[in-house]
Amino acid sequence: MTTVGILGGGQLARMLALSGAPLGLRFLVMDNTEDACAGQFVPQLVADYRDQAALAEFATRVDVATFDFENVPAESAQWLAERVPVFPSPRALAVAQDRLAEKTLFRELGIPVPAFAAVDSRAGLDAAIAAVGTPCILKTRRLGYDGKGQFRLKTAGDAETAWAALGAQARAHGLILEAFVPFQRELSVVAVRGRDGEFRAWPLTENWHDHGILSASLAPASADPALQAAALEQARKVAEALDYVGVFALELFLCDGTLLANEMAPRVHNSGHWTIEGAETSQFQNHLRAVLGLPLGATRPLGSSCMLNWIGELPDASAVLAEPCGHWHDYGKSPRQGRKVGHATFRADGAGELAGALDRAAAALGRQAQVAPVLARLRGA
Ligand code: ATP
Ligand code: MG
Ligand code: MG
Repeated sequence: MTTVGILGGGQLARMLALSGAPLGLRFLVMDNTEDACAGQFVPQLVADYRDQAALAEFATRVDVATFDFENVPAESAQWLAERVPVFPSPRALAVAQDRLAEKTLFRELGIPVPAFAAVDSRAGLDAAIAAVGTPCILKTRRLGYDGKGQFRLKTAGDAETAWAALGAQARAHGLILEAFVPFQRELSVVAVRGRDGEFRAWPLTENWHDHGILSASLAPASADPALQAAALEQARKVAEALDYVGVFALELFLCDGTLLANEMAPRVHNSGHWTIEGAETSQFQNHLRAVLGLPLGATRPLGSSCMLNWIGELPDASAVLAEPCGHWHDYGKSPRQGRKVGHATFRADGAGELAGALDRAAAALGRQAQVAPVLARLRGA
């Protein structure tokens, strides 16, 4: 019996565990919150990631370890990797945890990125604004997620307010200033690389955000084959450069026909949740196969899928369940503003069928605004 250890016990760990059950796997999650949503299904060590004694116990109880949380301290990941196989590697994790390191890597690999500059001080912010131009976004290098730890500057005159908001983070986590990209679309590649180097990617996914949090995903994205191929090639380059093992996502902006890389997530990704119902093999199952050194499953899509995130609180499930192609995912979390508490995926054989189901469910839920950009895309706008 193989036990997979997961650092982080959120919904990603929960969906990993659900997808690993048919493989006969056992799981142990480590998370410092008592009510971690994966802990409702699988054994949980309630402990901080820096707790050496807990990490030691975790290491003795698992055969292989992975993450549902990208901000596990690099030292904890390294300490664990000296005792048990850890995938992705602590080095890959370290690069992906730092926006400056990941953008520098992308640039070295010839992957276009928005203009960026490191910021370490108030004077450094002025110099970075002069170099990058406005509008721009100041971000913490580490620990940001769901758009947290970011400040948008319209003009150089916003520097003082931006520094007041994020300057305190400069010493602890470092800051990066990025050019604001007036993108037409946001896309992501979710990909997997096995222990033997085999690489597979799911089709390009289009994503829409609301206040910095993913709101809806549509896959396969409508994109010409050359763009698809370019995006997948970028993901392959990143995976190979990091000798990456497991699933990761590369977030891209499409701006005037050019793909610009925003960031990578060194784990299964929200924009890949549609693969549970909408692909031959889900991102969760393939992540487990990769970290265990098993053959990877096919990533081909089964028709078209749209995933809608439920942020803050769950709507009424019945409108989704009433659709034959609607699938409901409740993470078992208590409601809280800005928190991802569940999602729904609609999967259909054709765009017309998918649009019809989305239209009906959104009307019943009063969620027309959330699905409007998806419907516009499906209807060819
Ligand atoms: P995630 O939850 O995806 O990890 P995050 O907090 O790491 O989010 P980003 O992905 O960098 O942050 O930013 C969140 C969103 O803000 C992006 O998906 C995009 O919509 C917008 N955004 C970020 N950077 C830029 C940029 N340089 N230009 C334009 N929009 C941006
Ligand atoms: Mg991120
Ligand atoms: Mg992002």
